[in-house]
Amino acid sequence: MKLLFDLPPNPSLQIVGQTSRFPVRRIFCVGRNYAAHAAEMGNEVDREAPFYFTKSAHSIAPSGAELPYALGTSDLHHEMELVVALGKAGTRIPLQSAHEHIFGYGAGLDMTRRDLQAAAKEKRRPWATGKDFDASAILAPLVPAALLEPIGPRRIALSVNGDVRQDAQLSDMVWSVPELIAHLSTLYTLAPGDLIMTGTPAGVGPVVAGDFIEGQIDGLPPVSLRLLPR
Ligand code: MN
Repeated sequence: MKLLFDLPPNPSLQIVGQTSRFPVRRIFCVGRNYAAHAAEMGNEVDREAPFYFTKSAHSIAPSGAELPYALGTSDLHHEMELVVALGKAGTRIPLQSAHEHIFGYGAGLDMTRRDLQAAAKEKRRPWATGKDFDASAILAPLVPAALLEPIGPRRIALSVNGDVRQDAQLSDMVWSVPELIAHLSTLYTLAPGDLIMTGTPAGVGPVVAGDFIEGQIDGLPPVSLRLLPR
């Protein structure tokens, strides 16, 4: 088949200890998965079911990137998150076997144009422009699950220029990783290459040009971003 033009290479992530890279297919993101973050945004956690938004795989930038402040916003926020990479397909995955679908874990930043997201909420419009934009998913190398299981209680934290802004435990998540996989697979046929960004703890806030943002989850490589003037 002849294509009119070539696209950039398929987005992919480095894997710790491997020369092969992890090809990224889709990025699902979970909203309000930490009660304290939901509260700081003026929301209550929906205990009935998790909800999702998505980012394009082409919105990925690697950890360590130096990037200009995002277009179209004056209120760019950091959101530190655990990223789950799926390595096995499935639909209606039972809770008990959800872990079999996990390839590995990583640290990620769900960068958010909060002003655009707030305007969208106000007008009951989709969050797309607030969440899915160029270099809005900053992703660290993945660690294969076999090297980490169980993911268990771990600290998740983020600092800006060395000041700690987010500091919580993965066990604070309202919906656990297996619960998210089981639920998401009732809505989509999940497949290898899919990522789930599992939501952010409390402490989100604005960043400005010049800031150095670093997020850490115990046992995983850190994720970092340097913001440059646009
Ligand atoms: Mn988020």
